[in-house]
Amino acid sequence: MILTNIGTVKDILSRHGFSFSKGLGQNFIINPDICPKIAENGNAQPGYGIIEIGTGIGVLTAELAKRADKVCAVEIDSRLLPILEETLADFDNIKIFNEDVMKCDLRRLIQEEFQGLRAAVCANLPYYITSPVIMLLLESRLPVDSITVMVQKEAAQRLCARVGSRESGAITVAVNYYGTVRQVFGVSRGSFMPAPNVDSAVIRIDPNPEPRLDEESEKFFFKVVKSGFSQRRKTAANALSSLAGIPKENVYVALEELGLPQSARLEQLDLEQLIEFSMKLKNSIT
Ligand code: SAM
Repeated sequence: MILTNIGTVKDILSRHGFSFSKGLGQNFIINPDICPKIAENGNAQPGYGIIEIGTGIGVLTAELAKRADKVCAVEIDSRLLPILEETLADFDNIKIFNEDVMKCDLRRLIQEEFQGLRAAVCANLPYYITSPVIMLLLESRLPVDSITVMVQKEAAQRLCARVGSRESGAITVAVNYYGTVRQVFGVSRGSFMPAPNVDSAVIRIDPNPEPRLDEESEKFFFKVVKSGFSQRRKTAANALSSLAGIPKENVYVALEELGLPQSARLEQLDLEQLIEFSMKLKNSIT
């Protein structure tokens, strides 16, 4: 069954009385070039178990299952289950979990389902939870080699921005702290059914094998980053004193040690500077 053929897709959906849920971010891929490319760029290959988030009617799921040893897909919408039974009937290496990915124990899933395999995540993410899903995957230090996901173009630009540039945000810092990120390819809005109002892009994050900081330092680092980026236009000293209760004097000293002016804003610091700055600050108040 060709799941990128519009006639085929419309036929399946109407036979099952399925209507798209905007709230669940249901824009299904109908451009035949996209899913093979996501799979090939996302470690879908022998020796791998792939976690997919959000199956839709299984167009990407099938391409992943053709290449990897096993696919475990988490899909929240139970209306899609009878459709998937039909569209993925030819595969015996796919397991669907009818769950909300935000509540799913993915670490346990990997342990139980991917024994002897390496793991990776591939998905065309529901856009309303792009950042929470990416943060969940990174913060939980999921043992995966790569996270290859389609996101809205604007989100891709933010995620792939240089830390310290105007385009970067707290999530840019987080992604670069946890691993390396790059844009793999762009995708036009016409590649989906229904077509969204914006273009998309596929990005790939390769998590670092080891944490850069110990748990306590990491917690402090993110407290600093979140305070600094939630009030981006304030100086580091003003943002950290008002939101994190850190005395301005300590901020000035840490900035000075890095050769930065008292008026510096956190969004201007690159990742290494941010890490060094927050460690100096932490040491000065503990
Ligand atoms: N992979 C399919 C494709 O590319 O055509 C569908 C992608 S569509 C953008 C996002 C999918 O994620 C939908 O099937 C939607 O029902 C599902 N979804 C939305 N929220 C979810 C959640 N919290 N947990 C799991 N799946 C979710």
